Amino acid sequence: MNIRNLTIDEMKEIVLYYDEKTYRGEQIFKWLNKQMVQFPSEMTNISDSFKEKILKDYDFYLPNIEKEYASKIDETKKYLIKLKDGYNIESVLMKYKYGYTVCISSEIGCNMGCKFCASTKKGMIRNLEPYEMLAQIYLIEKQNNIKVSNIVVMGIGEPLLNIDNVIKFIKIISDPSGHNISLRNITISTCGIVNNIYQLAEYKLPITLALSLHAPNDEIRQKIMPIAKEYTLHTIMKAMAYYYKINKRKITFEYVLIDGINCSKRDAYELLNLLDVEIKSKNIEFNVNLIQMNEIKECAFKKPSIEKVNTFKNILEEAGISVLLRRELGKDISGSCGQLRLSESR
Ligand code: SAH
Repeated sequence: MNIRNLTIDEMKEIVLYYDEKTYRGEQIFKWLNKQMVQFPSEMTNISDSFKEKILKDYDFYLPNIEKEYASKIDETKKYLIKLKDGYNIESVLMKYKYGYTVCISSEIGCNMGCKFCASTKKGMIRNLEPYEMLAQIYLIEKQNNIKVSNIVVMGIGEPLLNIDNVIKFIKIISDPSGHNISLRNITISTCGIVNNIYQLAEYKLPITLALSLHAPNDEIRQKIMPIAKEYTLHTIMKAMAYYYKINKRKITFEYVLIDGINCSKRDAYELLNLLDVEIKSKNIEFNVNLIQMNEIKECAFKKPSIEKVNTFKNILEEAGISVLLRRELGKDISGSCGQLRLSESR
């Protein structure tokens, strides 16, 4: 087990087995998550003999940055991060007016099979452990000498299928003794794993939940997202409504606009109706994030013309919905939504 997977409470408890006081656990937690140390020797207030003992039982390994790609169009950077077993995942650093956001991966590959997404083309290898999610942020911060304020779990993988590790990651990264990132600045995006939306709600964390909706009805959704055959939009929307009821956090609906598939005027009106019936009528606060299809080599889907995008957007806005058209960041380095993919360097 990697020592970086431990929450502060676990760390305080574990040091007791080595006849150390709980504050030692807190010290180690801070070294790992505040100072983000790479080597045990950097933990200068921990005795060598104790380090030797605990590191017989726990791994100290930290992944490393294999490659950095900097966009020439905007200030986005994409990182290839190499894991212990030789797989590379991708993370993206984006600069906004209000600060830095990192988009992290939650699995090595993805099993969901969404037609339009590059992350799923090689299937799923394994879940990421909490320390592998933490490392994506720590390494990017160190490399750029910055502090990240927002995290979006929107990279490779379906986070709700790795929910235990994702929750642990969130607990560690938001711990005031460690990295102290506000829970309100963390967003998780899911393709809609209904049972796990209910499970996430019960943790009562004030994080934002985003749903990859992408269609105004089950028929279209089933054509582009295999998961839609398992859960109807009605059951997913009920789960989203429950999440809102418990957490009172505005929910986000993501909608990738794919030419000829889901972005006609009729689709926009049908989407309005769906949101009216399932969400607005229940007084749930939400916003819609429109994303233009980022083209990938494995799929013939194209992005619609800007006129079509604007028509779709206007129909929603005129109905009083808060709509954001997501900027295409890092396009030249394949760092935009749906363009991240797994690779190997073994
Ligand atoms: N598995 C999660 C996390 C992925 S988040 C989920 O499904 O939500 C990445 C977002 O980008 C999702 O909304 C996803 O559907 C969207 N996306 C995937 N492929 C895309 C593409 N080619 N162009 C634009 N957006 C895409």
